[in-house]
Amino acid sequence: MSDHTYGFDTLQIHAGARPDPATGARQTPIYQTTAYVFRDADHAAALFNLQEVGYIYSRLTNPTVAVLQERIATLEGGVGAVCCSSGHAAQIMALFPLMGPGKNIVASTRLYGGTVTQFSQTIKRFGWECKFVDFDDLDAVKAAIDDDTRAVFGEAIANPGGYIMDVRAIADIADAAEIPLIIDNTSATPYLCRPIEHGATLVVHSTTKYLTGNGTVTGGCVVDSGKFDWSANDKFPSLSQPEPAYHGLKFHETFGNLAYTFHGIAIGLRDLGMTMNPQAAHYTLMGIETLSLRMDRHVENARKVAEWLEKDDRIEKVTYAGLKSSPYYDRVKKVCPRGAGALFTISVKGGYEACVKLVNALEIFSHVANLGDARSLVIHSASTTHRQLSAEQQEAAGAGPNVVRLSIGIEDADDLIADLDQALSKASS
Ligand SMILES: *Cc1c(COP(=O)(O)O)cnc(C)c1O
Repeated sequence: MSDHTYGFDTLQIHAGARPDPATGARQTPIYQTTAYVFRDADHAAALFNLQEVGYIYSRLTNPTVAVLQERIATLEGGVGAVCCSSGHAAQIMALFPLMGPGKNIVASTRLYGGTVTQFSQTIKRFGWECKFVDFDDLDAVKAAIDDDTRAVFGEAIANPGGYIMDVRAIADIADAAEIPLIIDNTSATPYLCRPIEHGATLVVHSTTKYLTGNGTVTGGCVVDSGKFDWSANDKFPSLSQPEPAYHGLKFHETFGNLAYTFHGIAIGLRDLGMTMNPQAAHYTLMGIETLSLRMDRHVENARKVAEWLEKDDRIEKVTYAGLKSSPYYDRVKKVCPRGAGALFTISVKGGYEACVKLVNALEIFSHVANLGDARSLVIHSASTTHRQLSAEQQEAAGAGPNVVRLSIGIEDADDLIADLDQALSKASS
């Protein structure tokens, strides 16, 4: 068995976990502890010097969280991962080792609304900047990259429209510029898309969504492919140059392809403290055990609901990339062959007014600012998640005033269709 490569369904249950060495507990225990007893003073010193790997304090590492990190890294095909307190924390943690004042990132215009706000407003306070570009315009992506660009950022299946990014084409551009491509793989999950196989350097997740799968806890994760040469140029001094806080240790020289992950823990979590707690890790581990089963159902339901909506004359447009009419239909086979996810938008005849009525009339669909739950969710982006955006940004993000985003759950597809049918009748009356 040992040289046999396990399939996704096996890894989503077993990767990173083993029976608890102290008790034999089969399920990963929740190690609800802040600190860990050192064997002796030398052991403590070796841990603090990063000469030995072990547990010191749960802001940095925790055995329950470590299992989740290894599981997500394995499912994504990466070498290591760092879990964080939320998806937004993961985005800051992902950028932190790469950036400095005056540096910028080039990001897709089609992103989660909160990410647009984080990148267009908040990161400025660190002296970082973001240039937003339409990722379907490859020349524009190339043109936006300058000497101070330190990463390219996009979503594999993009919120809210479910657009599919040509990850390979963007990865080639990032490679040519010798900078990493970061993919937010939240909406796709590693079951539908494995961005590292398409050339991504780093993958970030909001584990809050499909990975946990039932809307119980917030969390995030940064996965490293281990494939980027941080010392190839002088753009990434945090990883290639001596680190004063560890007696001049050079992360890349010392830790090789684990440099980025070790930096994320030893500097990122240590000093930014955006740590995932072991309870959250436990819920997310439980969720991941059934990820493939849920994603297959999410995709099947999304396709059925989207096909029904597309034929309905109360609807102007359905953006689901799994529909033959979508300009992204051909990209699905290439980027996410198991399906286009379960997130898409509909443009409703009757505009803003009708959208508000629709959202109010739905019974099974919950009106919440969340996605990727087992239950179906709906949101009118323009009046909520994308409210902080300008009208222009809303249109660019696919979240105009007549647009409603659906996150299709794993209930009976017929019930979801019936619910939409009755609510659309009320919306158009
Ligand atoms: C939810 C989400 C985020 C932010 O994650 P939080 O866990 O809410 O901080 C980032 N990107 C995408 C695609 C998301 O859906």
